[in-house]
Amino acid sequence: MPIQVVPAKCPHCGFVVLTNRHPKCERCDRQLPKDMVLSEAELETLFARERQERAEAAQKAYRKELAKPATGIGGEAPSVLSVLSLGDLIGPDI
Ligand SMILES: [Zn+2]
Repeated sequence: MPIQVVPAKCPHCGFVVLTNRHPKCERCDRQLPKDMVLSEAELETLFARERQERAEAAQKAYRKELAKPATGIGGEAPSVLSVLSLGDLIGPDI
């Protein structure tokens, strides 16, 4: 099922709708036509895929961190930066 990413304009106020994930216009808050937004099922698929991608990216980043050669005696703990970016990659569960 192809996921539409072509920007469209709100038929009510002409605002360029940048995402098809919200059923309402971000400017005038009116309902957008159904063909401009993803259905609930499509959103579910999209979110599931994004969760999967984030999890994989986080895992990859973590493995990369573990694969780093240890420096100094006994090695070092993962840097604060890497821990932060790992958290960012996982993000809040939607
Ligand atoms: Zn609008």
